Parts: sequence; C-alpha cells; structure tokens
Amino acid sequence: MNLFGQRPPHPGTTTPTGADRAHAKVDSIEQRLDLCLLTMEAMWTLLRDRLKVTDEELAKRVLELDESDGILDGKVRRPPRTCPHCGKRIPGRFPRCLYCGEAIGAPPFA
Ligand SMILES: [Zn+2]
Repeated sequence: MNLFGQRPPHPGTTTPTGADRAHAKVDSIEQRLDLCLLTMEAMWTLLRDRLKVTDEELAKRVLELDESDGILDGKVRRPPRTCPHCGKRIPGRFPRCLYCGEAIGAPPFA
C-alpha cells in the first residue's frame, strides 16, 4: 500500500495494470464497507441504549424487510418506478429518469 491506500504497480511496470486498478477498487470498497458497518453498529447501539429496543426486535425487523419483496435472500430490492414526465419504467435505485432526466427522487435507502 502507498500513502493513498493503493497497492503499488507490479514490479517492473511503470503503469498500473488492470489487476492493480481492480485491487485498488476492492481496497476502497472494503474501507467504505468497514466505515458503513462501524456507523451502523454505532447507530444500533445508540437506539438500543436510549430507546430500549432489543436485539430480537432488530432481527425481526430485518427479516420483515428482507421478506417485503417476496424473496428471503438477505437483500432488499426496490421495485421499478414510472417516470411522471415520460411514463417510462426505471429501476427503483435511480434518482432521475434514465430516458428524459426528470428528477424522481430516490428512496432514502436505495
Ligand atoms: Zn422520464
């Protein structure tokens, strides 16, 4: 790793290879995931300690959300939405219409 959190290029090369860039991307994603997990744990312990919500209630809610799309797979899928401007269907995770650019507004956890 260098100062910027990236792996050095392969010995004997002066430019990063595709593998180097892939490793750097994976490292970046792992760092972001670690920060997300740490933040989520901090939020959960605050809720548990201040609102007296139990671990069992959290586990039940996770299961309910997982099952809300009809598939118990550890994921939440956002249903596609219809653009109010052009009427085309767009994937639920996009905040703008992919066809006309109309701002749709993303769900808070898309
Ligand atoms: Zn549109």
